Parts: sequence; C-alpha cells; structure tokens
Amino acid sequence: ETFESFNLKRELLMGLFEAGFEKPSPIQEEAIPVALMGRDILARAKNGTGKTAAFVIPTLEKIKPKNDNIQALILVPTRELALQTAHVVKTFSRHMGLQVMVTTGGTSLKDDIVRLYDPVHILVGSPGRVLDLASRNIAKLDNCHMFVMDEADKMLSPEFQNIVDQILSFLPQSQPGKPNSYQSLLFSATFPRTVKTFMDRHLYKPYEINL
Ligand code: AMP
Repeated sequence: ETFESFNLKRELLMGLFEAGFEKPSPIQEEAIPVALMGRDILARAKNGTGKTAAFVIPTLEKIKPKNDNIQALILVPTRELALQTAHVVKTFSRHMGLQVMVTTGGTSLKDDIVRLYDPVHILVGSPGRVLDLASRNIAKLDNCHMFVMDEADKMLSPEFQNIVDQILSFLPQSQPGKPNSYQSLLFSATFPRTVKTFMDRHLYKPYEINL
C-alpha cells in the first residue's frame, strides 16, 4: 500500500510527504480506508504504531475548508497529548488552509473564548475544558461530523466518563438504531469494560482493529 492509493486530497498528500511519511504503517493501512468509507472504528493500538496519523489522515480528508464550523473534535486525556496531536494535525494540513485549536484545562478560559470568535475547523482538547466551552455554546459542535478519542481507556476512567457522555450530547444527534450523524474513531491501548460499554452505546457497527 501507498498513501497515494487512498486517493487523498493533493494538499493532504503534500503535507504527509513533507512530514517524511512515505509508506503507511500497518495500523494506517487498516484504519485509513475503513475510516474514509465512513465507518466507526475501535482500534486497539499502542504508542509508536502510528495511531495518531491513522486517525488524523481520514479526519483531515473529511474536513471542508470552506465550511467555517468545528467539523472535528479530537479528545485526549492530557494537555501534553493535545499539543502533540495538534502538532501532527497542523503539519499534515499545512496546505489545506484549516484552523486548528488546542483547548485544555490549566490555561486561560477567556483566551479560548476569544480564539473561538474566529473560525476553527478542528478542536483538539481535554474533556473538562471542551465541555465547559460546549455547554456555554461558545464551542458549537452541532456541525461536528468527526469524533475522535485517543487513549479511550483513560478517557473513560471514572474521572472523565460522565464528562465525555455530556460532550457527546452536543454533537449532532440521530435516531436510535440509525448511524450516528457523526463518525467516531476510538483508539485505545487496552480494552477494559468501560471502553466496551462505550462502544456498545455510542458506536454504530464499529470496525474493530487489533494489532
Ligand atoms: P504514534 O504511534 O502515532 O505516536 O507515532 C509514532 C511515531 O512514528 C511518530 O514519530 C510518527 O511521526 C511516526 N510515524 C507514524 N507513521 C509513520 C509513517 N507512515 N511513516 C513515517 N513515520 C511515521
């Protein structure tokens, strides 16, 4: 497989090549085509497998730069991981004309509010701050059609689980038994009951990847 074979936008392919990505890793080979078809994914993958690109690439492919709404939400457990993930998103999307914003606790809420006056296409954040902004209707998630959760096992710990559920209520809703109005990509190193329960509750016919 090659990245060209995924039929990605030229601007995205350029960003990938400039970042030194030439050949997809196994998880990328498996996850990217499935995600591009629109399926929900639950992937068990550790750090170092290339999981970040496995969810960033399909997410970027599905963003419409001319639509000035938050179209993708990437939830991660820590500020450190949010910054790292946003860095990958920005590097790959260099030629796409997208606005990427990081929002986590431990920084000024006011600054985040001001930054959301301008268009943001992709929001990368930790649960508490994202919920805060969403529930004040400052981060508007009703046009968000990609929902990504990295380190889902940590995200669904007792500390975060209820917050994640509340965040999902701000995403576009669909009828029970129908596909969600948004696509979910979940990545997790381990697969505890909390992740299984979340998958059963929120994912639609997820494609499971075990590496
Ligand atoms: P991750 O598992 O997402 O933390 O990625 C681990 C490291 O591998 C990061 O430094 C990535 O930049 C790098 N990497 C991931 N996929 C590829 C690829 N297809 N080609 C080259 N480097 C990659």
